[in-house]
Amino acid sequence: MILELTDEQKAFQQRIAAFAAEHVAARAAAIDESGDFPRELVQAAATEGLLGVTIPTSWGGAGLDYVSYAIAIEAVARASAVLAVIAAVNNSLVAEPIERFGSDTQKQAWLKRLVSGEALGAFALSEEHAGSDAANQQTVARLDERGYVLSGRKVWVANAAAADIVIVFAATQPVAAGRGITAFLVPIDTPGLTRVATADSLGVRGLGCMDLELQDVRVDADALLGSPGEGFHIAMWALDGGRVAIAAQALGVGAAALHEALDYARGREVFGQPIANYQAIQWMLADAATDLEAARMLTYKAADARQRQARATVEASMAKLFASEAAHRAADKAMQILASKGYRRGSVVERLFRDVRATEIYQGTSEVQRMVIAAHVIS
Ligand SMILES: Cc1cc2nc3c(=O)[nH]c(=O)nc-3n(C[C@H](O)[C@H](O)[C@H](O)COP(=O)(O)OP(=O)(O)OC[C@H]3O[C@@H](n4cnc5c(N)ncnc54)[C@H](O)[C@@H]3O)c2cc1C
Repeated sequence: MILELTDEQKAFQQRIAAFAAEHVAARAAAIDESGDFPRELVQAAATEGLLGVTIPTSWGGAGLDYVSYAIAIEAVARASAVLAVIAAVNNSLVAEPIERFGSDTQKQAWLKRLVSGEALGAFALSEEHAGSDAANQQTVARLDERGYVLSGRKVWVANAAAADIVIVFAATQPVAAGRGITAFLVPIDTPGLTRVATADSLGVRGLGCMDLELQDVRVDADALLGSPGEGFHIAMWALDGGRVAIAAQALGVGAAALHEALDYARGREVFGQPIANYQAIQWMLADAATDLEAARMLTYKAADARQRQARATVEASMAKLFASEAAHRAADKAMQILASKGYRRGSVVERLFRDVRATEIYQGTSEVQRMVIAAHVIS
């Protein structure tokens, strides 16, 4: 067993880390402050191959493996949690399901555009009463002689502010719950589809989260992604990959927090010496470093499972659960070490502290990950 990145993976990691340090890091505070969706940065990320890391080169993607994708998201998240999750949504929740379940016509229409940055994708599963209970879809798709008519409301749709195409999940057979859900590829400018509200959030500000109102949105049968009734399976398959990416995102934020804490601990003198000399501080740093390294191993293992197995559900849930909570602990320790300097509005640690919290909520809360893992270990 060799726990080493390949030379190609290391080279990609270095290239993305350099991109993040040179072009992204300096923008992170301003994006957080304004809450504006960072369109130009997303375009710059596209030129680095970050919008279609695992999509085959024949469709314009970078054609890399899932571990490469995870290390790229981690590297981006060290500089900006927001850009990391924008890319994660476009990759895992939109481009990958289109590549896996889409028709050739859908791939021709969307895949190259999604990975080149010409178009951006969003994933609309959650509703007011369908968050953790995602199968409880109240959005319905009615079939008539001309196609499907979609009605309902989606909430917290990341990337929606700038998206061109949305995967909308809707009940086509409401009584069948998970087995009655169908996925549709809906261009954002389809009549009847309205972006209704921007969510003002604690962290990951600039993610472009909006609610979507669907009022008699008419699409033809070509808009079906996969088969009727296959939507819930598609959503869960996409979320396997998405959860690996969120684990990587959390890792990046946690690593940035540890970096800030180390830097400060070496320089800050109290009682006549650097606080890094005190064992209480050393143990916080040691715990955070160990936590993040353990999280990294779970994340890379889940990424490898995603690459090689048909499903990587349990591995992805374990990685997301552990990495998001480890990163939260690391940000908390960093806040404690920087004390008043960290608590000040506008400090880097203050932003990381707010950003990391979302990783325990979106793409399934920590409780949902524990439900998935428990079902596996108990069975
Ligand atoms: C920043 C952000 C971006 C998002 N982006 C997207 C997106 O792009 N697309 C999308 O579709 N959704 C998105 N979401 C929605 C997100 O996936 C949901 O918020 C999440 O799944 C939780 O759903 P909920 O908020 O309705 O909480 P609820 O499901 O109402 O849960 C409330 C609480 O109850 C707990 N709980 C629920 N059921 C159980 C149980 N059986 N046992 C124990 N505890 C339980 C939950 O863990 C949570 O603590 C986003 C959310 C945020 C905050």
